[in-house]
Amino acid sequence: ETAPASAFTLAFTDQHVGIITIDVPGEKVNTLKAEFVEQICAVLQKAQQYPQLKGLVLISGKPDSFIAGADITMIAGCKTAEEASSLAKKGQSVMSHISAMSVPVVAAIHGACLGGGLELALACHARICSLDDKTQLGLPEVQLGLLPGSGGTQRLPRLIGAPKALDMMLTGRSIRAKQAQRMGLVDDAVPQAILLQTALERVAQGRKARAPLPWQARLVGGPLGKALLFHFVRKQIRAKTQGNYPATEKIIDVVRNGLDHGRASGYQAEAQAFGELVITPQSAALRGLFFASTALKKERGAGAEPLSLKRIGILGGGLMGGGIANVTATRAGLAVRIKDINHEGIRHALKYSWDLLEKRVRAGRLTRTEQQRQMMLISGTTDYSGFERVDLVIEAVFEDLSLKQQMVAEIEHYASPQTIFASNTSSLPIHAIAANATRPEQVIGLHFFSPVDKMPLVEVIPHAGTSEQTISTTVALAKKQGKTAIVVGDSAGFYVNRILAPYINEATRCLLEGEPIAHIDNALVNFGFPVGPLQLLDEVGIDVGTKIIPVLVDALGPRFAAPPALDAILKDDRKGRKNGKGFYLYAQQGRQAKKKQADPAIYRLLNVTPKQQQEGEHIARRCVMIMLNEAVRCLDENVLRNARDGDIGAVFGIGFPPFLGGPFRYIDQLGAAEVVKTLQGLQQHYGEHFAPCAGLVRRAQEGQRFYD
Ligand code: NAD
Repeated sequence: ETAPASAFTLAFTDQHVGIITIDVPGEKVNTLKAEFVEQICAVLQKAQQYPQLKGLVLISGKPDSFIAGADITMIAGCKTAEEASSLAKKGQSVMSHISAMSVPVVAAIHGACLGGGLELALACHARICSLDDKTQLGLPEVQLGLLPGSGGTQRLPRLIGAPKALDMMLTGRSIRAKQAQRMGLVDDAVPQAILLQTALERVAQGRKARAPLPWQARLVGGPLGKALLFHFVRKQIRAKTQGNYPATEKIIDVVRNGLDHGRASGYQAEAQAFGELVITPQSAALRGLFFASTALKKERGAGAEPLSLKRIGILGGGLMGGGIANVTATRAGLAVRIKDINHEGIRHALKYSWDLLEKRVRAGRLTRTEQQRQMMLISGTTDYSGFERVDLVIEAVFEDLSLKQQMVAEIEHYASPQTIFASNTSSLPIHAIAANATRPEQVIGLHFFSPVDKMPLVEVIPHAGTSEQTISTTVALAKKQGKTAIVVGDSAGFYVNRILAPYINEATRCLLEGEPIAHIDNALVNFGFPVGPLQLLDEVGIDVGTKIIPVLVDALGPRFAAPPALDAILKDDRKGRKNGKGFYLYAQQGRQAKKKQADPAIYRLLNVTPKQQQEGEHIARRCVMIMLNEAVRCLDENVLRNARDGDIGAVFGIGFPPFLGGPFRYIDQLGAAEVVKTLQGLQQHYGEHFAPCAGLVRRAQEGQRFYD
């Protein structure tokens, strides 16, 4: 029996430089695992025994990744803070071992260099990276509710200065080659073809004193500058996180600790904070989401091979059609044929993509040639020319059942017998759209969210007669478009809009009771939503956002009935931001808007005097509890395949607070019994629409959880 192959191999050049190749056996990308600690140390020891050693180069054996991060399953295995702390300390000691090498150690970086991967590169004496789109450097730990635990919080500020280091660690964003070079994160950025050679040349130059920090960074070196910086950063981050993300606070503390008391103290603080964060519910929730979305990305349709797709047809070049054309051409790289009844629709769709690409060209992220190449993928027509060759059609015409049925008939007439028909309807039943189809097994729902290029979620909605192959092909397309797809049941509102509607209704009820608009929205922002419900409605369009309500009432009952306020608002021609009239005031043309302000005319319209009566927490409880209750119904009625999909749908589709992990994980955290009790209390006060559903009551009685 042979020992498992090491992820690290060592070879020497004629110039006596050791090249350590990182290549985790059997994996597509390199990720760091706990057992590598011994392997790295063994390789370093072997190198040290080489008599004329001039230096070391670290390079990856994988095509697209240097090291994409640490394997987070090993973190999930930690039961206590101490256990997690000692994991961090192990990581720290390997990194110290590298930086204590007497010969120069240079990282040659191509591809993803994230988390533990960047910490490893930071421990080297120099970093060279490839000028390639795949090359990205970052410390994304904060997105999992953690901080870099292998010395990164200490080395990064010393390399690029505290302001930039804090920004990288607090946002988790990744940096591309050119910018990394500009900010001193890497010493050089060169074409991939000469990456290794450049790294070897760098070794030959020997150990160098580090270049001084840029003046902005030095400015904060003094006690006053430092105090100001940390005060400012903390204030800014609290405004963003509402104090809901403990990792951000700890990152700031630990960086400050190292700058005030030196490295040793900083490392100590880093390991301890890492341990404490690993066992927070916030980190558990964020890691849960990460695992769920990774699992969804890998998931294949049940049994049926997806058809291969080359050309996509789109019906309607409006707001949604334009966005869908864009992600299909630029993300999936597929040819797109748009059909609209008038040229305006086609012009709109083409301009929509052009403008988005233009932004990337301006930012230096896309070449003109590439912009033109991608635009060439999109073409338009006002008849069905070219549709005989499309493999799948996405329909985004007006929301009208007979029009959509007509679209099915026309596609069956003009396209091939294999062509799949996917409808982007937000409220019509898919089985009704397929009612007169000759090939109903090829009809499905594919529900995007606006703006299509930004919103990460789609709902895939088979009706009872949709074939497995149609499902798996549609899911595969959505993934290619860069979306996370959940497969949901063909019932009113599908999943996302069904849980969103009662939440928004409840917010409007609070408004009718006289709560100020800003107070309501702030309550939900403080709870952790990116925007409040009324502002959300303004953004989506009040007319569009409320369209689903009568559908839900008809199909599922009066608990979805909107308070009369919404009707009055719509009658007043208030559509939200798009017509400059909504819950908030919008700048008149030519005038600059100051801070977002509620439109006082709303209160007159609803005949209420705005006065803050309820605590923000209470308002948030009303809106959120009613959403949780509906989510459980969706699971029990098989609108959802599982709780995981429900959590992903709420977080990616609505912005449900990620640190709570989604509605189901949040119920688990509170306990079903507690949720039932709260709902019953609200029911007594506000009425039957708060009645806890049977499934929730049963789980409360049996002490059942959604996750183990
Ligand atoms: P839109 O009015 O912006 O665009 C509709 C387009 O369809 C127009 O360009 C129109 O000319 C074209 N059209 C109408 N009849 C046609 C026909 N017979 N053949 C070809 N083209 C035709 O509407 P939208 O907001 O893009 O919505 C489109 C669909 O997407 C609707 O079903 C809507 O419910 C759904 N949807 C909208 C949103 C949203 O936020 N707006 C979100 C999800 C889903």
